[in-house]
Amino acid sequence: VKKITRHYEKNAPPVSRAAVIGAGIMGGGIAYQSATRGTKVLMKDINEEALQLGLDEATKLLNQQLERGKIDSLTLSKALNNIRATLSFGDFNTVDLAVEAVVENPKVKKSVLAEVEEQLPEGAILASNTSTISITDLAGALKHPENFCGMHFFNPVHRMPLVEVIRGKQSSDRAIAQTVAYAKALGKTPIVVNDCPGFLVNRILFPYFIGFSSLLNDGADYRQIDQVMEAFGWPMGPAYLLDVIGIDTACHADAVLAAGYPDRMAHSGETAIERLFKLGRLGQKSGQGFYRYE
Ligand code: NAD
Repeated sequence: VKKITRHYEKNAPPVSRAAVIGAGIMGGGIAYQSATRGTKVLMKDINEEALQLGLDEATKLLNQQLERGKIDSLTLSKALNNIRATLSFGDFNTVDLAVEAVVENPKVKKSVLAEVEEQLPEGAILASNTSTISITDLAGALKHPENFCGMHFFNPVHRMPLVEVIRGKQSSDRAIAQTVAYAKALGKTPIVVNDCPGFLVNRILFPYFIGFSSLLNDGADYRQIDQVMEAFGWPMGPAYLLDVIGIDTACHADAVLAAGYPDRMAHSGETAIERLFKLGRLGQKSGQGFYRYE
């Protein structure tokens, strides 16, 4: 991987214009990271309110940097100018690399990916920020699966260094290398992983969430579990982490993993995550998940 990466880092032109599709927790974070690292980015959503929330979050983070003296006001306005929020595909034909970050649902993703592919210039790279869905499976919707791979950021994007770059069966070396180079340009630590449901990190993380859920079904208190895991040394416990991720996203990802590994990751009985999802308590994004947020 290092050899391929070095080759393309030398030969592939840098990503000078990017796009994100979906302006939610992740799409907004990716747009912010791109903009602060000097790459112009189109941030597309189907929902005006989501676009505004994405811009508000970027503005809030930049203002925090300004207050801490890490950037000046010129840098702040340049970064904000690098983000163009849009409801349309106008200018997508100028983009070098686009990252899809819509809801974790294979059907929706396939239709969005096929739609985006039509808008991109020839040879542009298309990546999915899916948490769990097989890249080879998603590539089935595309005319040029060789230009497609996974680019899995972690939440919150501006703080988490890791990016999983996922090689689907048909992903070209060029797609992988350019995505790796883009991740590095964003100041991230990319690792290239093979394709399978959940890739690497979520195959470890989700069994932990299911273990947590089964403790709750046995009568444990989520607040106490969070305290215990923090005392164990983790920066936050599972209930708080699920609220940060989004209960809906965790629920969808869990379903993909259960279907992908029926012998190992399927579980009987309703999980606490499913119960909250049914109640519409989606975590921080909706103001209430395990905890309440102002
Ligand atoms: P989110 O619910 O915060 O945002 C999804 C956004 O996609 C919404 O703003 C919605 O309006 C938009 N959208 C839906 N259909 C669209 C379409 N056709 N075109 C454009 N926009 C559309 O979700 P999120 O947490 O940002 O997750 C997005 C993706 O990133 C999912 O695949 C998820 O699994 C993955 N992911 C999430 C996390 C996390 O911690 N939340 C971490 C890594 C990866």
